[in-house]
Amino acid sequence: MSLASQRAGWSRLPLRAAAFVVLTCVAILGVSGWREWAARDQVLKGAETEMANVARSLTQHAEDSLDLLDSGVVGVVSRLEMDGADPATIGKLRNLLEARKKAIERVHSLAIIDEKGNWLTSPGTIASTLSDDAFFRHHQLSPKRDAYIGHPVKSLVDGEWVVTLSRRFNKPDGSFGGVVLAAIGSRYLSHFYEQFEIGRNSSVTLMYGDGLIIARNPNNEKFVGRNIGDTPLFRDPSLQRSNGAHQFTSPLDGAERVSFYKRSGRYPLVLLATVDKDELLAPWRAAAISRMLYVLALVMLIAIIGAVLVRQLQRGQRMAAALIEKEAHFRLLAEGSSDMVTRIGLDERLRYVSPSSNRVVGWRPNQLIGTEALAGIHPEDRPHVQAIVDAMKRGDAEEARVTYRNVHRQKSEVWLESTMRVTRREDGTVDGVVAISRDITEQKQLETRLETLAIEDSLTGLANRRRFDERLKEEWARAYRDRSSLGLLMIDVDHFKAYNDEYGHPAGDACLRVVAKTIAAEVQRIGDLAARYGGEEFAMLLPNTDAAGCARVGERIRIAIRDAGLVHATNPAGQGVTVSVGGAACRPAAERTAGTSSLVEAADRALYAAKDAGRDRLMMSGEVMNLLPRASGQ
Ligand code: GH3
Ligand code: MG
Ligand code: MG
Repeated sequence: MSLASQRAGWSRLPLRAAAFVVLTCVAILGVSGWREWAARDQVLKGAETEMANVARSLTQHAEDSLDLLDSGVVGVVSRLEMDGADPATIGKLRNLLEARKKAIERVHSLAIIDEKGNWLTSPGTIASTLSDDAFFRHHQLSPKRDAYIGHPVKSLVDGEWVVTLSRRFNKPDGSFGGVVLAAIGSRYLSHFYEQFEIGRNSSVTLMYGDGLIIARNPNNEKFVGRNIGDTPLFRDPSLQRSNGAHQFTSPLDGAERVSFYKRSGRYPLVLLATVDKDELLAPWRAAAISRMLYVLALVMLIAIIGAVLVRQLQRGQRMAAALIEKEAHFRLLAEGSSDMVTRIGLDERLRYVSPSSNRVVGWRPNQLIGTEALAGIHPEDRPHVQAIVDAMKRGDAEEARVTYRNVHRQKSEVWLESTMRVTRREDGTVDGVVAISRDITEQKQLETRLETLAIEDSLTGLANRRRFDERLKEEWARAYRDRSSLGLLMIDVDHFKAYNDEYGHPAGDACLRVVAKTIAAEVQRIGDLAARYGGEEFAMLLPNTDAAGCARVGERIRIAIRDAGLVHATNPAGQGVTVSVGGAACRPAAERTAGTSSLVEAADRALYAAKDAGRDRLMMSGEVMNLLPRASGQ
């Protein structure tokens, strides 16, 4: 994956996380809402079932009531047809009917009407004719002997709404003899319905087939006689089945209702049991609201936590992007630099090495990463570098610059200069060191060369006067510390002016080189130093050497030069080139007042004594004067 597409993927991450949180919240709300809705449905279904049971049993009750009425009517009809409708029979029957009415609560009235529509039994006093009533006309015109359920009417006796059931009776000749009528009252039915406790705002209504209300509980008096035939229950074709559930807004009180209706199969009656939807759903609503509040609280919690996490993710991403940019800059600098940039962990292993390592030490970064950082350092320089690194790791030093020799893959060795700096974690503890190393080999070589130039005599290659003076001081101090003896020889070419005059200056230079080489060849100890003191005068510094040792070396030098066979025809002191040597030795620790100059002076005096004594000889300062009695005594 490329960096750009990776970044693009990253930047979409908070958006995806936010979408996930929103989706989770929506899912929780959705599932909870759906469950609550299902619970509500359950409540409604339960109510419908309950209403169905009520409707069925009350329809059954209405049918049974009419059946009961009918059995009474049938009995009276058969008595009238057997005994005839003479006043005596009517009188007997009237008593029977009265008794029966009293015995059976649900019978509102039982009456016999003659063929002209006049009351034969009670109410008696009512002097009206029923000849125009629908039931009477039905029986008068139809020879059928079935029971007839009349349209509900207001009773002429007490004004109560009643449903009538009537049958025709015939005279012995088969002609129409009259009607036996029984009625069931609205009040009885509504009282009966009161027994069913189906809720405060519930109702049970019995209607005639055309929608006229026969009985209702509650508020029977208010609703009885009203016609609701124009409501969907009677109009809607889908509701014309024998029974079914029906939800509607009551035209009577405007309340929404859940109901179940049942049409009687045998009589033109419809029973509607309803329950107020608000009341029905109230307990569910209360529970659902409290449950949804919990769910809402949960969703809000998720949303808040989600928002915080998304913010953190965004912040983290911004930080990561900044870090990437920072790292890119760092890499650009580190990898574009000709210096080798390395990062060293606390275990002193290389964590990062910039590509210029290939140029600086000859190895590629991947060959170096993980290896010991100080492994390539020259054994002589390593303790010093190690000490610096240790100090930095301890936190004693923040920065350091160190120069050392390091192995190079192709060249044998390179000089490196490293600038090191401690790196720290966020809590301030040291977590490593960053080193920027550059190859200073050329610089170092130049330095060495300059240094050599500064201390070397250009003609002879021996140490120059400056170097001699330095070493003399050092060796004096060392001898002083060690209470050892320090010897010095001063060597001067005899009659060299004459040599120059004879052979020329260049030949003189060549001669001086040979003399110098011969003197250098006599250097046998590491600490000994042969130097050109000036002109054709040489010096030999002999640490840890007493006068005797000094004399031995001086004599060897004198003989070696004489034996070198350098031609010097005009040398009165001998055949070839000869030198005179003056030597001195002392113990600086014993010479409290004397300094280095006293030793040089002593040797110089000895040299001039040797010159005076005829040249080509060695003189020790002790032989000249008793200046250094103890040194010469050894
Ligand atoms: P002596 O020391 O024996 O007393 O005699 P001398 O001739 O050596 O005496 P002096 O010290 O006076 O002369 C030194 C001469 O050495 C002078 C100079 O011409 C010569 N000389 C000094 N330095 C050099 C040099 O670098 N090259 C050459 N060719 N000659 C030099
Ligand atoms: Mg001289
Ligand atoms: Mg000389």
